[in-house]
Amino acid sequence: MNPPVTAELEPRSASHAAPKPSDGVLDWITRLVKIDTTSRNSNLGLIETVRDHLAAAGLASVLSYDATRQKANLFATIAAADDGTQGGIVLSGHTDVVPVDGQNWNSDPFAPTIRDGKLYGRGTCDMKGFIGTAVALLPRIQAAKLKKPMHFALSYDEEVGCLGAPVLLADLAKRGIHPEGCVVGEPTSMRVVVANKGINFYRCRVHGHAAHSSLTPKGVNAIEYAARLIGHIHEVADALRAQGPFDHAFDVPFTTAQTGTIAGGVAFNTVPAHCEFEFEFRNLPGVDSGEIFRRIEDYARTKLVPEMRTIRAEADIVFERVATSPAFDAGEGAELTRLVRALTGDRDKRKVAYATEAGIFQNAGIASVVCGPGDIDQAHKPDEFVALEQIARCEDFLGQLIRSMV
Ligand SMILES: [Zn+2]
Repeated sequence: MNPPVTAELEPRSASHAAPKPSDGVLDWITRLVKIDTTSRNSNLGLIETVRDHLAAAGLASVLSYDATRQKANLFATIAAADDGTQGGIVLSGHTDVVPVDGQNWNSDPFAPTIRDGKLYGRGTCDMKGFIGTAVALLPRIQAAKLKKPMHFALSYDEEVGCLGAPVLLADLAKRGIHPEGCVVGEPTSMRVVVANKGINFYRCRVHGHAAHSSLTPKGVNAIEYAARLIGHIHEVADALRAQGPFDHAFDVPFTTAQTGTIAGGVAFNTVPAHCEFEFEFRNLPGVDSGEIFRRIEDYARTKLVPEMRTIRAEADIVFERVATSPAFDAGEGAELTRLVRALTGDRDKRKVAYATEAGIFQNAGIASVVCGPGDIDQAHKPDEFVALEQIARCEDFLGQLIRSMV
């Protein structure tokens, strides 16, 4: 993830006057952080812990699994006072965390500790702080006579390309469940984020033909064709930068594209048969990501591959879409945007270039906003933390949200 657009420091300090979260909330966050849900691991330990807790309170959870059945999303509905389960608001968070490999921590990342008004541990900020707060408020939600239902949505594999949320939403669609709104509790320092860019991550494999380097006309140099394609991606990026469209509420106000990794070749004196590279582009809301990809693919298909095949018929360029996350734009007129703005008192238009699951909910017809405790700048780093004051503000916000639904 990238740093946020507007990285002002929180004006409040963790002084004695700072609000404190309740013990129940801290207990739940601690419990969740202790379960190592690094994306490469199963998240079932966390999901089953929450499921069992909800079950003890009389709530049924629906789990939707990935193909390995080692990972699951959880969805649960706290019905309205009239037993209604349609509409209402989803509290949404991803359960996975990024690895701690190679990071130098001052305390065990999976044994959360409080120092100087901050709770340290992997995922405290991104985003078990939000999930723990929401789960801890279950008794309050159940005790309130809600006019509309509230839902919990916990997903897997957000950090490796938002893989779980689409499965969760497909399951909701299949079961005919249609929430109205969704608060995605990614760390925003409890401010309202109303848009994020889309992320489109591709791998490209160039299959050329090997030859002794003294016989270059007999080979198809995979690295050179990859380089031409990478040059084309750069030109696409330059055009987007020069011609827009633009949205100056983003720190980088245009759609970006870049190549991130490359590998190929076996020796300086061999025409390389293979080259593989990875590229991504981040589209502004309203910019068609498919059209951008087609500009890249068309160049390979109509210009490079025919040229490669004049030497070797089986030469090819193959694209693999590794991960995508749609752009998100809440719209100021949306009821949920206005509600969350009213509850937080935040009027600023904040748009970010890092991915969230909000676009996936929005594309499923569920109005979304991003608002959660902690600063995104603390996420993914060694000594990740969330300030207790942020957790307290999240607890207060969710309390107000519950009251607004009564
Ligand atoms: Zn996150």
